[in-house]
Amino acid sequence: AAPSVKYKRVMLKISGEALMGDQGYGLHPPTVARIAREVKSVHDMGVEICMVIGGGNIFRGLAGSAQGMERTTADYMGMLATVMNALGMQAQLEALGIHTRVISAIPMDQVCEPYIRRRAVRHLEKKRICVFAAGTGNPYFTTDTAATLRANEMNCEAIFKGTKVDGVYDKDPKKFADAKRYDTVSYDECLQKNLGVMDASAIALARDNALPIIVFSLDEPGGFRGILAGQGTYTRVQ
Ligand code: UDP
Repeated sequence: AAPSVKYKRVMLKISGEALMGDQGYGLHPPTVARIAREVKSVHDMGVEICMVIGGGNIFRGLAGSAQGMERTTADYMGMLATVMNALGMQAQLEALGIHTRVISAIPMDQVCEPYIRRRAVRHLEKKRICVFAAGTGNPYFTTDTAATLRANEMNCEAIFKGTKVDGVYDKDPKKFADAKRYDTVSYDECLQKNLGVMDASAIALARDNALPIIVFSLDEPGGFRGILAGQGTYTRVQ
């Protein structure tokens, strides 16, 4: 029997870098496939899944503007990068037999669906995975903010932020052996101490709508499913 799950609908946010494997750039299809299997294991529990994938493995607006590009142009390039990642994830999810829709904040009808809230909700009700691409569609934002925005719009019960570590620490656990993980931490403490959960606008948007952020390790096989079944270690920002 499937373990009991307390979530009906969730948002999974992963960075673009999670898709690049050891390559240092771009998409590594076996890595995308591995994450797709983790997502499938949660989909198999009957949980409705929204996803937002960053674009940092291909292009970041800030990096472009630091090299003399107009910030808005560079940000649009970053948003387009997220569309490539979303298509890569869709391909791997569909290879596993899960109906998946890529939904872009910037319409590009030949490539994917435009964002229409009611249509996206309907996909979720039909147990299709919705991968929200092109961020918020606006420069000067990040995909963390996009994930928080869409999670609110889709009435997700929480944002699951998949990272390389199993939660939020008081200092970098990869550098300091005595770093301590929080079981729970408030939005305000994240902001005040700059704990690096998400950028400040995303955390404020989650706080103002009482949307919990669950930070967990995506490198841990079975970790995503385990947390939905009430196991494993993670930090809950609330
Ligand atoms: N971006 C943007 N508006 C958004 C979301 C993203 O302009 O609403 C751009 C921005 O340039 C950002 C890039 O897309 O650097 C990639 O997104 P992000 O840095 O959030 O990716 P991640 O770090 O999660 O891989």
